[in-house]
Amino acid sequence: MSAYTKEQVAKLVDGRLDWDTVFRMLSMPKDAERFSLYVEVLQERLGWKDKIILPLGPHLYIVQTAADKRWVTKCDCGHEFCDYRQNWKMHAVIYVRDTEEALTEIYPKLMAPDPAWQVYREYYCPECGTLHDVEAPTPWYPVIHDFEPDIEAFYKEWLGLPVPERALD
Ligand code: ZN
Repeated sequence: MSAYTKEQVAKLVDGRLDWDTVFRMLSMPKDAERFSLYVEVLQERLGWKDKIILPLGPHLYIVQTAADKRWVTKCDCGHEFCDYRQNWKMHAVIYVRDTEEALTEIYPKLMAPDPAWQVYREYYCPECGTLHDVEAPTPWYPVIHDFEPDIEAFYKEWLGLPVPERALD
């Protein structure tokens, strides 16, 4: 039995808990039912039929397209970024804060990093403008591809659930 009811999970998703906390609570320990419940709650809130395979952030998912069973990275507004193995950030609208002025907008005065050694990169959905991720790398650092999840192993070995179908390319 999952320790969380669907209602509790819905409250969690609605709540103001930060994403890391929610994700940790819902993805650990090993608990397939909790994961399914979580995905179900998210799925009910979306205006499209593609099936969520793995949430990547509060508004970003790897989904299986309803039409042709491709696995793609998608925003909750419906915007499709790319194949799930590609780095969606390369398909996002990127805003780089690399001046003292731009960094001071998000940091208290005098607390902002020196743009010579740290910048902020913000990744937005080109369609709805949702901010999906922020990086704070040194200026010369390449765009970070967070991880390429091994979805088959995650479903089979971690969740013990059947792997969603995927169209071969
Ligand atoms: Zn969007």
